[in-house]
Amino acid sequence: MSFVLYPYRSGMLVELRKPHPCGSRAWRILRIGADARLQCAGCGRQMTLTRRRLEQATRRILETEMEEETDP
Ligand SMILES: [Zn+2]
Repeated sequence: MSFVLYPYRSGMLVELRKPHPCGSRAWRILRIGADARLQCAGCGRQMTLTRRRLEQATRRILETEMEEETDP
C-alpha cells in the first residue's frame, strides 16, 4: 500500500520549497515515475530526483497541466 501525497503528472508545474539559484521556485514535471524529471521554469535547467525527494521538496502544485494555446 502506498500513500500518494501529490497527484503528480507530466506537464504539471510545481513550486518547490527552496528556490533555484536562478530565483525561480517553479518546476515543470517532464516525466514522473519512481524518479521525476523536472525542468526549471526560470532557466530551463533539468534535474532528476526520486519521487520521494520530490514529495519532500514540493510546496504546492501551481498548474495541474500544461496549458496549450489552441487558437486556430
Ligand atoms: Zn533555474
